[in-house]
Amino acid sequence: MAIAESVPPLDVEEVALADAAGRVLRQPVCAERDQPPFDRVMMDGIAVEFATLDSGQRRFRIAATQHAGDREQSLSDPAGCIEVMTGAVLPRGSDCVIPVERLLVNAGFAEVEEGYETQQFRFIHKQGSDFREGVEVLPPGNAITPMDIAVIASCGLGRVRVSRLPVVRVISTGNELVAAGRPIETHQIRLSNGPALVAMLARQGFTDCAHDHLLDNEQLLADRIEAHLSAADVLILSGGVSMGKADFVPQVLADLGVTKVFHKISQRPGKPMWFGLGPRQQAVFALPGNPVSSLVCCRQYVLPALHRASGRHARAAEVAVLDETVIFEPALTNFLPVRVHTDTSGILRASPVSTNTSGDFAALSGTDGYVELAREISKFNAGCQVPLHRWDTP
Ligand code: AMP
Ligand code: MG
Repeated sequence: MAIAESVPPLDVEEVALADAAGRVLRQPVCAERDQPPFDRVMMDGIAVEFATLDSGQRRFRIAATQHAGDREQSLSDPAGCIEVMTGAVLPRGSDCVIPVERLLVNAGFAEVEEGYETQQFRFIHKQGSDFREGVEVLPPGNAITPMDIAVIASCGLGRVRVSRLPVVRVISTGNELVAAGRPIETHQIRLSNGPALVAMLARQGFTDCAHDHLLDNEQLLADRIEAHLSAADVLILSGGVSMGKADFVPQVLADLGVTKVFHKISQRPGKPMWFGLGPRQQAVFALPGNPVSSLVCCRQYVLPALHRASGRHARAAEVAVLDETVIFEPALTNFLPVRVHTDTSGILRASPVSTNTSGDFAALSGTDGYVELAREISKFNAGCQVPLHRWDTP
């Protein structure tokens, strides 16, 4: 199924480094200089010529002090030493650092502790030993982590090219729905999908996701969905796509020029899902209202499509070993919520967490994701390997 490829690639924009965490890097980041850019002192202490120390000399006259941030000094007298601080340039003419903890410093002399042994280049982080100037230190195609921020900053980039954030609109439909914090009556249902979908998207870095709640009224749906379509790259609707008398969403979308790519998938949960492309190729994901269905469909179809459009490399597929035998009626792919753990032999195991129905979403809290059980098979024995989809790592 080509849903993952249906969202057109997002443009590139430049952002300040401070705003870059979580965004998808769209340029290679290359080393500005060797790393470290000079032979870097790794301990507070003294810098000496190793040959002098090796010849048996233990007492060194302190000729100068070299702090971090000072220009390189020279050790002109090989019998002397230069006091050095962590992060300083190694003084020219020296090739060994002795930490202050091993010294007795008195009246302009440093005396090395008895029995202390060392080697040439000890406590010196050699120039270019991490990487060389010009090498690619970060490839494009990954979400920028805090560690990447350090690398980008070390390369001297104050701004960086990333994918534009998609404008996403999340729309909950249903007369019965009442948002949390508002008074509710017996016949009504708490609106939970919208906030959950927005949270799922935000966790993946998609933060431009306004939510709207629409009643099951054809005209109202048409007007508001049209407005959202003109504003957004991607629409995610929940509810109103099944066979009920108030399930107006497919017809309204068709009337607005959203071309249906498919309606219904042979899977459980999430069978009634509708997917289409708007006049500007906006992807329209109309998810079933059942909470388990809408969360699974968002994780399974919407997030991968958004990541792909953002230029993010796909993650390697994961597999887990099923902990219990499960039996399903054939012909439908089943997405079964699971908790995972690694057993004592290091094997990743998935324990099914049964949801009562696709409306029983309380059971999803505490699950790590779901396993995909192929439609061709109806009995999956404990111990078999199955694809695992984690909520957090699409
Ligand atoms: P629908 O797909 O509109 O037929 O809705 C299927 C079931 O999911 C119904 O029980 C709805 O009340 C429920 N539902 C629909 N949308 C939401 C929502 N946003 N939050 C919680 N439950 C919902
Ligand atoms: Mg409904």
